[in-house]
Amino acid sequence: MDFYEDLHLQRSKRVGIMGGTFDPIHLGHLVTAEAARSEFNLEKVIFVPSGQPPHKKMKTISSKEFRYLMTFLATAANPYFEVSRTEIDRPGESFTIDTVRYMKNKMQPGGELFFITGADAILEIVTWKNVNELLDVVTFIAATRPGYDLNELKSRLTKELDNQFLKKIIALEVPAMAISSTDIRIRMKKNRSIKYLLPESVENFIHKNNLYLP
Ligand code: NAP
Repeated sequence: MDFYEDLHLQRSKRVGIMGGTFDPIHLGHLVTAEAARSEFNLEKVIFVPSGQPPHKKMKTISSKEFRYLMTFLATAANPYFEVSRTEIDRPGESFTIDTVRYMKNKMQPGGELFFITGADAILEIVTWKNVNELLDVVTFIAATRPGYDLNELKSRLTKELDNQFLKKIIALEVPAMAISSTDIRIRMKKNRSIKYLLPESVENFIHKNNLYLP
């Protein structure tokens, strides 16, 4: 996979990094990545499942290999989508700055990186490691769910970030983000259907491996 990842990074001028825990990946994530791809003319979107997400207790999330495999299954048919093992294989906490530096190094000079993730995660961006360098190197695309209070995001970021960095965070409303990983896990615990909320291959994988049961 690294070989292909390197190849895509070397060949592409505009690349999206889709960062998330993906526990599990669902149609909202896929619609978000596709919307970002077409809106921002991205040549590739590389999904990067977190190995050890910062600020999260490991016992509350599924194993990184399960999350990687579900992401792989969900994206396999889309020629614009790739999955990276970079955070899965890197020991320690998965800081976005390390991923961004790694990918930027592989790209040709002049290449642009976009980091796509949930607006709620980006709300906390000032607590992320090396935030100024991050905002210097990538443009952030903050996916919002319907009804999301964009003013909160704006006022929080205006208070905490310089103007030059504010321009590097762009909100993208994604109606399909009404689906959430938390809701899918709760449905599984309550023995309710998760059909049509995520690709069938991922649904089958969840049942086969007894994920998210009480
Ligand atoms: P999270 O708390 O699990 O998610 C926050 C919200 O964003 C949830 O509503 C989630 O919905 C949504 N979301 C997460 N990933 C998304 C995506 N790719 N597209 C659309 N919505 C998304 O967030 P997290 O997974 O811990 O962090 C998200 C990303 O930020 C990861 O890549 C993580 O490594 C990075 N991060 C970095 C640092 C750091 O470098 N210090 C700190 C925190 C986070 P669902 O639950 O439905 O996905």
